[in-house]
Amino acid sequence: MAVFVEARERKLRRKICKDCSARNPWTVEQCRKCGSRTLRPKKMERKAK
Ligand SMILES: [Zn+2]
Repeated sequence: MAVFVEARERKLRRKICKDCSARNPWTVEQCRKCGSRTLRPKKMERKAK
C-alpha cells in the first residue's frame, strides 16, 4: 500500500507564501492571493493512528 501512502502525503502538502503566509495548493507556482513566487513547501504531518 505504498502508493496509497504517497498519494495521501502529496495531498497534505502545501505551499506557504513567504509574503502573505497564505496557504496554496501544492500544484501552484505562485501565490493565489498576492501573486508572489516566493513560496516555501510545507509538509503537514498529521498522522492518524
Ligand atoms: Zn501570497
